[in-house]
Amino acid sequence: MSFLDFAPAPESTSVLNLRTSYGLFINGEFVDGHGEPITTISPATEKPIAEIAHANAQDVSLAVAAARKSHDTVWGRMSGTDRGKYLFRIARLIQERAREFAVAETLDNGKPIRETRDVDIPLVAAWFFHYAGWADKLEWAGVGPNPTSLGVAGQIIPWNFPLMMLAWKVAPALAAGNTVVLKPAETTPLTALLFAEVCQQAGLPAGVVNIVPGLGEVAGAALVEHPGINKIAFTGSTGVGRHIARTLAGTDVALTLELGGKGANIVFDDAPIDEAIEGVVRGIFFNQGHVCCAGSRLLVQENIHDEVVEKLTRRMSTLRLGDPLDKNTDIGAINSREQLERITSLVSQGEAEGGVRWSLDCEVPQKGFWFRPTVFTGVTTSNTVARDEIFGPVLSVLTFRTAEEAILKANNTPYGLSAGIWTNTASRMLQVADELRAGVIWANTFNQFDPASPFGGYKESGFGREGGRPGLAAYLTTEGAR
Ligand code: NAD
Repeated sequence: MSFLDFAPAPESTSVLNLRTSYGLFINGEFVDGHGEPITTISPATEKPIAEIAHANAQDVSLAVAAARKSHDTVWGRMSGTDRGKYLFRIARLIQERAREFAVAETLDNGKPIRETRDVDIPLVAAWFFHYAGWADKLEWAGVGPNPTSLGVAGQIIPWNFPLMMLAWKVAPALAAGNTVVLKPAETTPLTALLFAEVCQQAGLPAGVVNIVPGLGEVAGAALVEHPGINKIAFTGSTGVGRHIARTLAGTDVALTLELGGKGANIVFDDAPIDEAIEGVVRGIFFNQGHVCCAGSRLLVQENIHDEVVEKLTRRMSTLRLGDPLDKNTDIGAINSREQLERITSLVSQGEAEGGVRWSLDCEVPQKGFWFRPTVFTGVTTSNTVARDEIFGPVLSVLTFRTAEEAILKANNTPYGLSAGIWTNTASRMLQVADELRAGVIWANTFNQFDPASPFGGYKESGFGREGGRPGLAAYLTTEGAR
């Protein structure tokens, strides 16, 4: 018996206490929306989970008004110490409900329960704990004397880490004294609405957090264009980010953008190869590759290319694709049919352009959206799969001979979010890291996150940082500026 024969170990959905329908969360209450409700489904089974109210521009206005009132009369005037207490309470409630949040996220998003249980939800709690500690120390945020909140923050997030992206945005905004109106992604609204329940449980004053699920072009656009907003924090595609930047150009609305990426994982011939293989696998197959900072390009030194590819495909052969609620699953479902079609089309293009494709030989469930872990060899920097963000479980392998060539190739992308370097030579590690244009660089590891460590991009990966002190500063101004 190989370890692949282990019996299934599905997590139970009995921990969930879901409603059949969810309203918008405005001014501390769940209310009906004026948009057409949409049923959120599990991408692994295509089964409905719950009906979700959708916001239109009118609902967004109500949410902004609630946030404004709460900011001007309660939250913006509260002492940092008291705001911190609320954030600590939220963090603890998330820990208490961690198992429920993990199951709900896996159900709605399709990612493996091992990841929601061990990565997403613990990091969500960590983010709230981190910023709870900042709430009474704003003078150390580095923005100047008498820092004060910006006002009402509009926050728009994607579907790949639904609750984690919420935490990255809501925690620093609230710590700094802002109130928020947050729009989750169309396909993954569930955990944001469970988070609204947590806000109620924590006794958070009405209007501090407002959640408005809805379509990007409707609710998202209304939030961006609303005159009552002081800041927009956006995480999503570079195309939409560009559109938002154009809309806000010339206004006094503060803006941070966390956009796409095409990260390079650079493996030198003196690297700890087995660890590097693990890092490469984690770098691209974690969360089905739906990761903005994924290591989607493997740059491997030419003399070890064959050995690395052989070991990599052998390791990939042990990945288990299937029921995301099964604790043994490594690769869950693709989040939506639309994303699956996008991945499939880019991979076909990669093949048509001469790339050599290897995909995991495994069964794929009949229902739901699935894509087998895939690696492309024989590609050049001009191949679509080596250039475009695929946002799926697809790795492209390129080679280099010298550190200079590795740096040139790694930087040969419009993006600049992440990179990984694998070498046992410290001086080379530092020299290469220094030359890479990427917001986060991992040394002999990949995809590690910490709330104290700022995260963000260069070039078309956006601007502004989330996490740590810069993440707090992004929600502050100096008194009198507004
Ligand atoms: P997307 O840009 O399509 O959607 C992101 C969010 O924007 C969604 O909530 C959507 O409803 C909303 N939106 C869409 N059109 C809008 C508009 N006109 N006005 C306002 N809001 C609008 O992106 P996606 O497909 O959901 O997410 C994938 C992308 O997100 C990838 O490119 C990925 O790299 C990026 N991402 C970046 C980071 C980061 O930190 N840099 C993190 C996660 C994801």
